[in-house]
Amino acid sequence: MKILFVGAGLSGAVTGRALAEAGHEVTVIDGRDHIAGNCHTVRDPETGVMVHVYGPHIFHTDDAGVWDYVTRFMAFRPYKNRVKTTSRGEVFSLPINLHTINQFYRKTFRPEEARAFIAEQADTSIEDPQTFEEQALRFVGPDLYEAFFKGYTEKQWGCSPTELPASILKRLPVRFNYDDNYFFHRFQGMPEEGYTEMVARILDHPGITVTLGTWYEPAMAEDHDHVFWSGPLDGYFGYELGRLGYRTLDFERFTAQGDWQGTAVMNYGDRDVPWTRITEHKHFSPWEEHEGSVLYREFSRECGPEDIPYYPIRLVEEKEMLGAYVARAEAETGVTFMGRLGTYRYLDMDVTIREALDTAALFLARTGAGEPM
Ligand code: UDP
Repeated sequence: MKILFVGAGLSGAVTGRALAEAGHEVTVIDGRDHIAGNCHTVRDPETGVMVHVYGPHIFHTDDAGVWDYVTRFMAFRPYKNRVKTTSRGEVFSLPINLHTINQFYRKTFRPEEARAFIAEQADTSIEDPQTFEEQALRFVGPDLYEAFFKGYTEKQWGCSPTELPASILKRLPVRFNYDDNYFFHRFQGMPEEGYTEMVARILDHPGITVTLGTWYEPAMAEDHDHVFWSGPLDGYFGYELGRLGYRTLDFERFTAQGDWQGTAVMNYGDRDVPWTRITEHKHFSPWEEHEGSVLYREFSRECGPEDIPYYPIRLVEEKEMLGAYVARAEAETGVTFMGRLGTYRYLDMDVTIREALDTAALFLARTGAGEPM
């Protein structure tokens, strides 16, 4: 079959590869001038540092199948995400761990003492936290919430944490030991030559043609037996029911000599600092040596029609519009919606790859059995 993939990010590349390996004729288009979507990496021309163009991407997973898959295309180097945050003139370790708690409260707690102390700070009257703020108050109490989460979240999401779902905070653990690894996952690392090279290798198959700088037009569907859409869900339907909300990011680049901040990611918890974080990209490739350093101040704002969408917001009022779009997507034949934009969900890279592999397997099973997709 002739199959069109709209979007050359992880979803399109992984599903496209599987279908090409099964003998289908695959075309992948992308409106931007590069592959790999928002995990695009490129060497900074001035410093030679590998830059995560759309912000930091750290690969982490518990899914051995996904880990096997990515390491088939690219060597991964060990990388632990150890995030720091600046709040009220002090630097703390994230995620909240025993060091953070002891430094914040000027204590020398051991794990069980800290657990009991934090339980006293927590608002246990909140039984079933629904919002971000309730989740924070329920599990860490007001002091840590205000120092580390409230201001950062207002900047990152442009609204009050009382309007955001608890699920956003559930991404972050609280640890009663000194483990400062941001993620729990068994497999973690950085692709040695960057994500774009990894995606290029996934797309490097005789059955795949990639065309960049090309936006989708409905007439293209007529030349293909099936379309896989990893562009914005609402964009596919011409925004007929309204626009789903996204946050976009602006990056302010600056360079330095040597080591400017001593770590890859420094968050800024204070509301009066306009950026959410500063990233120093040489630290994402600790096995490389560079004299110069390139850094980005990261600013979050509402995503306009011409901007690149990053984070789906999923506020309560958007859920209804989303439901209507999902119903239309399900009713559409000959098109499969996939990925972060195509399904309007916050997706980590490993989940994106897992879903892309599963989508391919389902498509091959159904079409092999002569069923429509
Ligand atoms: N967050 C926060 N303070 C921090 C880091 C994270 O308040 O220093 C909140 C913020 O709302 C963020 C969420 O926790 O969106 C999830 O954090 P994560 O690090 O997963 O964000 P991402 O890497 O996706 O930007």
